[in-house]
This record gives sequence, structure tokens and C-alpha cells, in this order.
Amino acid sequence: MASTVETLSNFIDGESAAGAGESEAVLNPATGEEIARASQSSAEDVDRAVGAARRAFDGWSNTTPAQRSQALLALADLIEEHGDELARIEALNAGKPIEAAKNDEIPVMADNLRFFAGAARCLEGRAAGEYMEGYTSFTRREAVGVIGQVTPWNYPLMMAVWKIGPALAAGNTIVLKPAETTPMSTVRFAELAADILPKGVFNVVTGPGNPTGQALITHPEVDMVSLTGSVDTGKHIARTAADSLKRVHLELGGKAPVVVFDDVSMEAAMETIAGTGYYNAGQDCTAATRVLAASGVYDDVVAGLAAQAKGLVIGDTLSPETTLGPVNSARQRERVSGFLERRPDHAEIVTGGSEPERPGFFLEPTVVAGLKQDDEMIQREIFGPVITVQQFSDEEQAIAWANATRYGLASSVWTRDVGRALRVSKALRFGCVWINDHIPLVSEMPHGGFKDSGYGKDLSMYSLEDYTVVKHVMANIQ
Ligand code: NAD
Repeated sequence: MASTVETLSNFIDGESAAGAGESEAVLNPATGEEIARASQSSAEDVDRAVGAARRAFDGWSNTTPAQRSQALLALADLIEEHGDELARIEALNAGKPIEAAKNDEIPVMADNLRFFAGAARCLEGRAAGEYMEGYTSFTRREAVGVIGQVTPWNYPLMMAVWKIGPALAAGNTIVLKPAETTPMSTVRFAELAADILPKGVFNVVTGPGNPTGQALITHPEVDMVSLTGSVDTGKHIARTAADSLKRVHLELGGKAPVVVFDDVSMEAAMETIAGTGYYNAGQDCTAATRVLAASGVYDDVVAGLAAQAKGLVIGDTLSPETTLGPVNSARQRERVSGFLERRPDHAEIVTGGSEPERPGFFLEPTVVAGLKQDDEMIQREIFGPVITVQQFSDEEQAIAWANATRYGLASSVWTRDVGRALRVSKALRFGCVWINDHIPLVSEMPHGGFKDSGYGKDLSMYSLEDYTVVKHVMANIQ
């Protein structure tokens, strides 16, 4: 446990810079103790960071793909070399069980940066030819400019890396604002990256949505805003960006349906569904937390998930034994508990539902059964260690209920019937459908939502393209 209170600086133009705003406490959610202080950076701080990114743009966007690729490969190595330190920061500041941070997130971040290092060298204009007599046309994909990036608190560094990789690969420069409760890993990463990236290419300003984030998304020199966050913030950014027609890239919330038919291999299914529903204390936009079970297996699913929940170990996030950390903040715990307190009479808390007697913002892993389609817990994102279970009668009803939510990020279907798996995966209106699994992502494939879950993709070549603009060059060759 950290015993000293660190003062975090912004990182602007290649160096640490104290923010002008008043400082704000940064807590360890597993203890509630203050572990750092971060500036609530002002509009002037943001302006300095955007100025640095703007000045760095010409140089960085004119590097060769090979040079940007080398830099991204070096950043990936850096993440691995400092993996233990960064995982420890995430355990302390983001409430992650240390083993998960170390073994799951660090390798994914390194792999993601290596993917974009390769992708940087594969970006191409798709057309070249004579489309009008006497003229040669071709297309170029160019960097957008200065990108304002805003990240959430559930995977602080990983969400930052998902944005930094494609933006830098395409030749953009960045000002990134981490979530106010979890700035530590991003600030540290910026300090470490200073040996690799030219000054001004990657800048970090700490602070809350307002004034810091607001100053970033309205800054006239920011060409594109990319957010991973809530639907409300996404809508606010899209509305605000409309005034200056900034490009917007939005990865918003989710409410993933997990459709379990009666022919599954029950034990393995329950282990994976609970494992991915409670992963990161359920604070995952793709978390397997809205289970729809066929009537024939409903009781087994409820009992199986409850048994899995009881097997989780709540505790010190630095202990390798711990499998369930706290939620992010007192506010988030209150929000999650609010759903449980407001539950309708027909809902049954099968296991969990309480706040354990210990410091920090922990919540017991919870299973709620008997819910109906219109219930708040089915319709709204809970973002905590709470799995709901509903009972469906047939495939048609399962698909209708699964789709009847404003979110559209991720989903899964569980069945050994190949035809049914493919039919259901086609019918589900979500940006991702897993068949007989939930949560695995790969750098090569896109991640992003439909409907209120936003637009624009993370990961994959689609993400790289999102951080570019297409230019047509037409030459009179007569
Ligand atoms: P949030 O929207 O409250 O905050 C996200 C970020 O936006 C924070 O950095 C916050 O300071 C900033 N912000 C808030 N108001 C702003 C403003 N006016 N201008 C600029 N920035 C502003 O979300 P949260 O509660 O921190 O994060 C959890 C949410 O993120 C959940 O809904 C979750 O599903 C979503 N999420 C989505 C994905 C995805 O890939 N789709 C991944 C992780 C989290």
C-alpha cells in the first residue's frame, strides 16, 4: 500500500508541468485513502497542451510510417519493461486485482501497440487511376491533426493505449485527459514515453470533465475528440463538437445480453459468464451481466452463477489471492447499490447485495433473478459486480429481449446448435457477438458500438482509419 501522497503533474511539451488548477485528492478505492493529488487543470493548462500538440504536428505527421512504427514498438517494450510498476499503479488507483492488471492488461496493451506499429506501415489510399481522360487521381489517407482524447476510470491505461496507438500510427498528435479518479498510470506512462516520442506529440492534462475536459473538447485547435465514457458524456461531446464540426469518436456504455440456450455445457458456461461478468468488478462496458436463460436451464443458470459468485475472493488488490476488487469510488458504489435498493418486489437477490464490512468501496458479487424486461436493472447499465438473470421461452423472445435496450456494444450467444448460433448472432444488434464465450478481444478486430453505445471503432484497421482523413489528389496529365 502506498504510504506517501504523490503530487501528479500534467505532461506538456515533453516535460512535467504543474497544473494551474486547485489540486484534487486521488484515492485508492480499496482503502478509501488518499494516494495522490492531481490538478484540476484549467483552460490555460489545456491551451498550453493543445499549443504543444499543434506545434508538434507538422514534424510528427511528416515522419515516415517506419519511424512511427519504431516509436510504437518502443512504447510496447516500455509497457512490458515497466509492467510490474504500471500494474501496481492500476491495482492501487483503479482497484484492480494485481494479477489481472499484470497478466491480462499489460500484455494486451503491448500487443495493441505492436499491432498499430505494423498497421502504420500498411495504411494506403485505395484508389489510383485515370477516372477522367487526361487526369490521374489517387487518394491519400492523412492524419486528422490534434486529437483531444478523454478516457474513463475502468481501464485507465488500457483505454488510453487503445486511443494513443492508432492516433500516433496515423501521424496525429494528442492531448489526453484521464478520468479524474484514475490519472496515475497515464501520467506515469507519459513521463516514461518522453524518451521515445518527440516533445509535444503526446500530452496529458489531469482534471475533471469540467473545466478540464470541457476546455479540451471546445478548443478551436483540436480537430477531433475521442471519448470512452458514458452515453451522457458522449452525447454532450457530440452536441458540443457540432458547433465547430470537430470529428467525434465515441465508445460509450453497454448492457451486454448473454443468451444461454438449454443445450450448453453448463459448468464451463457458468464459469466463463461469471468470470467475465464480475471481471474488473463488473466495470466493463462489455461485461457479461445481463443473462437471458432458456426456461429449461433457468434454475441451473441462477444456481451456477450464484455458486461462482460465492467463490470470488474480495480483498487487498495487491494480494495475488484477490479476484474481486472494489468499484471505482464511493459515488459509483452508491450508484450500484441504488439499483439494488430500488429493485421491484418480483426481483430476488440470490446472493450478495451488501457492502462488506471493510474499508474501501467494495460490493459483494451479486446475482439478481426474477427480473422483467422493463425493469431498471435490465435496461440501464449498472457497471458493478451485479449479474441479472431473466427467463425466456423461445429463440424469438430471447432475441427480442436481448435487442430491446438502447445500448449496442457487445453480446453473446451460448448454444451447441451451429445454425441457431449463427441465426442469433445475425439478429443481435450489437457491435460484437461472441459465440460460446464472452469478452475476448484481439487487436486485429474492431471493437465499438451500435445505437447509444456510440460510433467509431477501437482496435483494428478500422480504428486507424477513424484517425485519418481521406484526400483526393487529381492531376491534369496532358
Ligand atoms: P464519464 O462519461 O462520466 O467519464 C468519462 C470521461 O469523460 C472522464 O474522463 C470524464 O472526466 C470525462 N468527461 C465528463 N464530462 C466531460 C465533459 N463535459 N467534457 C469532456 N470530458 C468530460 O464515464 P465514466 O463514468 O468515467 O466511465 C464509465 C463509462 O464508460 C461507462 O458507461 C462505460 O460503459 C463506458 N466505457 C465504455 C467503453 C467502450 O469501449 N465502449 C470502455 C470503457 C468504459
